[in-house]
Amino acid sequence: AAAAPTPYLSGLNAEQRRAVEATEGPVLVLAGAGTGKTRVLTTRIAHLIATGLAWPSGILAVTFTNKAAREMKERVAHLVGPAAEGMPWLGTFHAIGTKILRRHAELVGLKSDFTILDVDDQIRLLKQVLQAENIDDKRWPARQLASLIDGWKNRALQPAKVPHGEAAAFAHGRGAELYALYEERLKILNAADFGDLLLESIRLFQEHPDVLADYQRRFRYILVDEYQDTNVAQYLWLRLVAQAHRNLCCVGDDDQSIYGWRGAEVDNILRFEHDFPGATVVRLERNYRSTGHILAAASHLIAHNEGRLGKTLRTEDEPGEKVTVTGAWDSEEEARLIGEEIEALQGKGHPLSEMAVLVRISAQMREIEDRFVQLGLPYRVIGGPRFYERMEIRDALAYLRCVVQPADDLAFERIVNTPKRGLGDATLQVLHAHARAARIPLMEAARFIVETEELKPKPRRTLRDLLANFSRWSQSLEATPHTELAETVLEESGYTEMWQKDRSAEAAGRLENLKELVRSLEEFPDLPSFLEHVSLVMDAVESDSDDRVSIMTLHAAKGLEFDTVFLPGWEEGLFPNQRALDESGRAGLEEERRLAHVGLTRARRRAKLYFASNRRIHGLWNSTIPSRFIDELPEASVEVTEAPAAYTYGSYGQSRFDMAEPFRSSYATPGWQRAQANSAGWGGGRGGQSGSFASGRGAGARRGGPLMIEGELVAKSTGTAS
Ligand code: ATP
Ligand code: MG
Repeated sequence: AAAAPTPYLSGLNAEQRRAVEATEGPVLVLAGAGTGKTRVLTTRIAHLIATGLAWPSGILAVTFTNKAAREMKERVAHLVGPAAEGMPWLGTFHAIGTKILRRHAELVGLKSDFTILDVDDQIRLLKQVLQAENIDDKRWPARQLASLIDGWKNRALQPAKVPHGEAAAFAHGRGAELYALYEERLKILNAADFGDLLLESIRLFQEHPDVLADYQRRFRYILVDEYQDTNVAQYLWLRLVAQAHRNLCCVGDDDQSIYGWRGAEVDNILRFEHDFPGATVVRLERNYRSTGHILAAASHLIAHNEGRLGKTLRTEDEPGEKVTVTGAWDSEEEARLIGEEIEALQGKGHPLSEMAVLVRISAQMREIEDRFVQLGLPYRVIGGPRFYERMEIRDALAYLRCVVQPADDLAFERIVNTPKRGLGDATLQVLHAHARAARIPLMEAARFIVETEELKPKPRRTLRDLLANFSRWSQSLEATPHTELAETVLEESGYTEMWQKDRSAEAAGRLENLKELVRSLEEFPDLPSFLEHVSLVMDAVESDSDDRVSIMTLHAAKGLEFDTVFLPGWEEGLFPNQRALDESGRAGLEEERRLAHVGLTRARRRAKLYFASNRRIHGLWNSTIPSRFIDELPEASVEVTEAPAAYTYGSYGQSRFDMAEPFRSSYATPGWQRAQANSAGWGGGRGGQSGSFASGRGAGARRGGPLMIEGELVAKSTGTAS
């Protein structure tokens, strides 16, 4: 190693330095949030390059997201200069797997230009497989098979290895057989799905030891960030590649394992010490990110989990501001409070780029985004599209646009065959030809075509039904309340059903987003003004400036840090999320708690929690109770702030335990009754809200305003997305 002074090392503490300098042999850095794990990895890469131990091309570094990969490259370049350029093997498992597979495609039955299927393609292909096997895909949906296969691939199970019991779960024991048929089809199509990117490289390595040996030589040093969220396939892959040199350095935190639902196995941490005996285990205990109160809150919260490896965290930073908990009347007020707080901070000179809003489910973003647009606050959504740009929202909007404006060709084209109803390209071509020739909109052309013999009887009938639906919906524009109409359109068109039947991981979120869309309609007097609002929001100039508030899900926030973090929606049912509890019980609760822990530990100086006492969940107003996670915070580090609203919150605000407890033990407490009494004032007196929206609110009020339901029902109604 170089004897020359190494400036990049000077920014590390002794333990971090040990992890960086232990270049040979397996190293496991097991340490809490903000202790510098990622910094260790970055510095380690710099060290390997600067000391000449490795060329940039001989280092394999795995990050969890592409964004993290880019940042790591930048940081390394910052430490050692342009030498860091050309780190071809710094990326996600998927990116690296793809690269390797393209180089040796023919060895696993593919060509180097193979296509990578997205979820939709995958489903389509599985449908074909089911059809060919005469399996009723109503009884045995392709989506369900897709998620089974994904699960098997996450565990690196080839069809022959699928346990009997699991294969039995589908189509009377034919799960594994169908999986094998699907794999065959993939090869014929020269295609791979996401799971294959790793699974096929594992197979490649197993069947071609010479290829494996080549990569083992090439990757002299291997580094993995966010190790707690690797799945079994990723682990096996790493083990194969690292076996020869064993220069594998993994960093992770069991308390931040939040992808169990996607097959991640925190046990990989335990496996590491078993498979790589004699590994250097480094524990970092000093948190450099957060102030004392934030760290105390996060540590106290996570201590409620049982399945932990356990570790200590300390900070030498000052206690700083307490974590705040603010109760809002409903989610709209919550969004307003967050907006006000952001503007106040901005007024004091805090940059927007140092603030983030972290939500549990993406549907929560709608109100926040709307509020920001109203305020003219620049924001960006990280890790996904903005609310109105989501696929399901665009589809739903297209339906509504067709109802309001039948001449909207783009909208019509988007939904004419969504859900699939047999009006494919052939039909569209006929419509287009006629529309062009007669210079009329597509829908008008369609009305003409269905009266002719141009289409086959089946699509003709389907199209006629669809047109009849649109006529009916358009006619009820005046008479039916617009929220009701929107719901009807989505239901009668089969669009909602399409997602209800969908068994993929994203389907539930999409349904939530659709409900949220319908709910948002209430804020407008009618459909046209709503659609106009949407086009304004969509148009809202994406500010060029980098100074924007970030909005993202908690899952997407892993590894990031901000001065101020806003955490809305800390309510039972939403967070911890009822679905996680229903599906995974205690383990689900612990994963939710880790997610809360991840959220809190993103904050450097300020963590601001919010809960709303009323939230619309799946279309119904529910009175909600504050999240149990709020109760689990240490009193000394938390400050309950009163929402500066015109409402009294009953017992809220006296102490945070008063605030949460009565809600938990009994719903009929004075606090709750007072809260309910306030619902009489719903729609009126909503300070700060623009007047034109008040009439939209009236629709909610007409239907009885917030619906207070028994606790059990609240829990149930949040349980499933259907
Ligand atoms: P997470 O678990 O959230 O991914 P992490 O352990 O990867 O966190 P880093 O992101 O590497 O932590 O570091 C957290 C913050 O602390 C960063 O801003 C980093 O620059 C800073 N930091 C880390 N180590 C030191 C150090 N020795 N001196 C000063 N600052 C440090
Ligand atoms: Mg990190």
